[in-house]
Amino acid sequence: MSDVRQHADDIHDQFSDHIDVSVDDVEERLTTLVDEYKVPIDEARRSVTNHYLEEAGLEREDISQGGSEEVNVEDVDEPEQWIDLTAKVIELWDPRSDSVAQVGLLGDPTGTIKFTKWAKSDLPSLEEGAVYDLRNVVTDEYQGRYSVKLNSTTVIEELDEDLEVGDDTSEIEGALVDMQSGSGLIKRCPKEDCTRVLQNGRCNEHGEVEGEFDLRIKAVVDDGIDAHEVIFDKEATEDLTGLSLEEAKDMAMDALDTTIVADEIAADIVGTYYRIEGPTFGRYVLADDVEELDGPADAEQLLIRARSM
Ligand SMILES: [Zn+2]
Repeated sequence: MSDVRQHADDIHDQFSDHIDVSVDDVEERLTTLVDEYKVPIDEARRSVTNHYLEEAGLEREDISQGGSEEVNVEDVDEPEQWIDLTAKVIELWDPRSDSVAQVGLLGDPTGTIKFTKWAKSDLPSLEEGAVYDLRNVVTDEYQGRYSVKLNSTTVIEELDEDLEVGDDTSEIEGALVDMQSGSGLIKRCPKEDCTRVLQNGRCNEHGEVEGEFDLRIKAVVDDGIDAHEVIFDKEATEDLTGLSLEEAKDMAMDALDTTIVADEIAADIVGTYYRIEGPTFGRYVLADDVEELDGPADAEQLLIRARSM
């Protein structure tokens, strides 16, 4: 069976109880998107599914999910995918909405991911520390962070085993194509456990405060496929630029301007190739281990492409 036919079959199975549609109809829609409009098959599948949801007057949660795929946490990189996970409940948090029954963090050997279980899905309670086989969960994305949602079609089976949970480490190799605002010599709120970056001398939480200087870089690194946001803390910034916090403060003092530090750093690093390794925190990679590389010959091309994104 062809790939498109297989997807058509899956979609047909989901809707055959609700509307009068043939596998051929579904396949034709998919084929048009894939062949004529060059839409990737996953996207075509989503689009065609949405079409039939609308036609049937159904919500996504209402349809049965055949053919969801067993994946690892680190493989979740797209919203609206139906997947199966084997994962341990690391933490449960207090739901902030009545529509949510449980919310927390799941983990497997490849990483961790947030989960939400809808109240109306009427599923059994997950226990902290237990390992589950979760079938038919749907992926979601918010501001670059992925999560999974347990819904009324989800099947939960508790497993009598432990699971080692890994941290999400990323390795990126590519050109540092942009440095974002909030980089260079910054001031942070001095209140305990706050450390928010001040905007014009003000903390979002604590108002006007006497800030403490810090060095940081928020950069965009393009590996040729994706753009990644990378944060360098004080130590990583000092290592990367050879500029210490004290030197940066002196530089800003001499110029009577803190932005000179960011300008100097940007001139030094933008356009350079790096291999960067570190844990991921939401949409950011925290640079732990950085190595400068000789860039490929088409560095200029890459920069032009990156600017046009
Ligand atoms: Zn504060």
